[in-house]
Amino acid sequence: MSINIAIDGPAGAGKSTIARRAAAELGFIYVDTGALYRSVAYHCISNGVDINAPEQVEGILSGITPELRFIDGVQHVFLNGEDVSDRIRTPEVSMGASKVSAIPAVRAFLFDLQKKISRENNIIMDGRDIGTVVLPNADLKIFLTASPEARADRRYRELMGKPDAPSYEQVLADIIKRDRDDSTREIAPLKQAEDAVLCDTTELSLEESVEKIIRMIKEIL
Ligand code: C5P
Repeated sequence: MSINIAIDGPAGAGKSTIARRAAAELGFIYVDTGALYRSVAYHCISNGVDINAPEQVEGILSGITPELRFIDGVQHVFLNGEDVSDRIRTPEVSMGASKVSAIPAVRAFLFDLQKKISRENNIIMDGRDIGTVVLPNADLKIFLTASPEARADRRYRELMGKPDAPSYEQVLADIIKRDRDDSTREIAPLKQAEDAVLCDTTELSLEESVEKIIRMIKEIL
């Protein structure tokens, strides 16, 4: 039986950095499910598909094959055989991913892929609905959060210096909008599973957050 750890929480809470580091330390595979939603949004944006028109998005699903491949323990996202890992990290794709993720057909399309990975590997999987929908029987569920300002500040620093980097105000506005959209959508909204442990990292450094999560995981192993 493989060990499954679920980490959910809003954008910018540090899920990916913390989960990646914890997975490396424990020898688990880190699975970033947001990358799958991003790959669908990226495909739509680059092919003139209107992400605000669910029937158009639904229509392209049968023609795309998103895949997660793990190269030297690092997740790469492939779309129809092409590595799109870097191209899915723009603010435009972030907002697009939030849009397409509210479409039930998109969630159903990506569900089996996530399940398959969880059955075959010891994983730390992060997303929005991992503890509530994808891995309801996870060995440990963590809900990672931080204040919107702390999260915007971290995201802003990540994007700083990149071409077309947004302002702090823009990053904060995007985070607040994405939180609202992700939490209020009808299907698989972002919410803490009843049996998830809440972990607020507003006052913690990255180092402290990583240590805390690793300690929590080691306790259940
Ligand atoms: O985690 P990340 O910011 O890359 O996710 C991008 C978007 O994909 C989120 O805002 C959310 O709308 C969606 N998502 C989701 N369910 C997941 C992971 C991500 O709906 N399990």
